[in-house]
Amino acid sequence: MAAFPKLPAFDPADPLGIDDLLEPEDLAVRDTVRGWAADRVLPHIADWYEKGELPGIGELARELGAIGALGMSLEGYGCAGASAVQYGLACLELEAADSGIRSLVSVQGSLAMYAVHRFGSEEQKQAWLPRMAAGEVIGCFGLTEPDHGSDPAGMRTHAKRDAGGDWVLNGRKMWITNGSVAGVAVVWAQTEEGVRGFVVPAGSAGFSAPEIKHKWSLRASVTSELVLDDVRLPADAVLPEVTGLRGPLSCLSHARYGIVWGSMGAARSSFEAALEYAKSREQFGRAIGGFQLTQAKLADMAVELHKGILLAHHLGRRMDAGRLRPEQVSFGKLNNVREAIEICRTARTILGANGISLEYPVMRHATNLESVLTYEGTVEMHQLVLGKALTGLDAFR
Ligand SMILES: Cc1cc2nc3c(=O)[nH]c(=O)nc-3n(C[C@H](O)[C@H](O)[C@H](O)COP(=O)(O)OP(=O)(O)OC[C@H]3O[C@@H](n4cnc5c(N)ncnc54)[C@H](O)[C@@H]3O)c2cc1C
Repeated sequence: MAAFPKLPAFDPADPLGIDDLLEPEDLAVRDTVRGWAADRVLPHIADWYEKGELPGIGELARELGAIGALGMSLEGYGCAGASAVQYGLACLELEAADSGIRSLVSVQGSLAMYAVHRFGSEEQKQAWLPRMAAGEVIGCFGLTEPDHGSDPAGMRTHAKRDAGGDWVLNGRKMWITNGSVAGVAVVWAQTEEGVRGFVVPAGSAGFSAPEIKHKWSLRASVTSELVLDDVRLPADAVLPEVTGLRGPLSCLSHARYGIVWGSMGAARSSFEAALEYAKSREQFGRAIGGFQLTQAKLADMAVELHKGILLAHHLGRRMDAGRLRPEQVSFGKLNNVREAIEICRTARTILGANGISLEYPVMRHATNLESVLTYEGTVEMHQLVLGKALTGLDAFR
């Protein structure tokens, strides 16, 4: 009689055995980023969050540059040239620490650097990318405006050429991550030719980036307004390789891909906190993890968490193969952020009153995810993207 094969032990941290999909280099990237976050973020994050600040952001950026996390999946110019899966794993580990740290990295690498790398001139790439990859210069990405969020086509920020060929930019951008600490802003503006991207050094006359305060989400992240009052830029400040919303939308697609992974990091951290708590907290004379209702919550959380990670892997492999469609990124962002926030909310219930304390990460992740649910395309926008792809009917307007 054939012997039963010996099965690997069940691993509560990886119940589906998803790690089997990873190569040793992938695991090395994950361990490096996880180790960095454990040393540099986790001991301080509750304090930063409570104070609503991200102190030493310049130093954090340089350290992130040193571990290759900035512009991680880009090639050349000092970037790590990592695979999409490796970039995703890094996003997951960073967001397991805090969505604010992952946002810093996403905006730097997937929005600001990606825009210059994909659409910039060789001179623009040489001028900015190596310093951004090293974390010496922080970048931001200005698309959203006070009156135009989900519908950027209506943006009012505009750039006009003057007689000498210079560009003159006027307008306002809103809710811009990294704005006040950025050395360079990629700003999207209407021109006579359509929407164009501009590389705006932060020191430009007429440019300022006041910080937005009083946020109850992403408190350990810098969010700003960008003010452009007659900002005069040379003719070569425009990103030459793209015209139209295709430019910013393709950057957003890259950043959203990171969120598909990152959101599962916030969910994992909350799940782990709830699991530990359920095993040690006693009520009615026994651990609350021994009650069927708690186990149902834990089982459902684990199912959604690891389904989400599996989905992220699948999309990562498609991206590495050059086969990832924007609708598939919408699928992943819609599902994973929505499920991540549900996992955090369920974890909060398992922790009872302690669930609302900053001593545990759960409420911090849940409130962070309220922003993640909205930025890079709201839930509704991704439903409309998928709805259009499924039906062939455009329901945006
Ligand atoms: C913390 C934070 C950081 C951010 N960082 C950046 C950044 O770095 N760069 C940047 O450019 N932007 C950034 N944003 C802005 C973000 O991308 C926008 O908030 C987002 O696109 C939504 O725009 P809005 O807030 O103007 O909402 P609106 O577009 O006004 O939407 C309000 C509500 O109406 C719904 N809605 C709109 N149109 C439709 C429709 N056709 N059908 C159904 N429902 C609809 C939306 O889904 C939403 O629920 C950030 C936002 C936050 C909160």
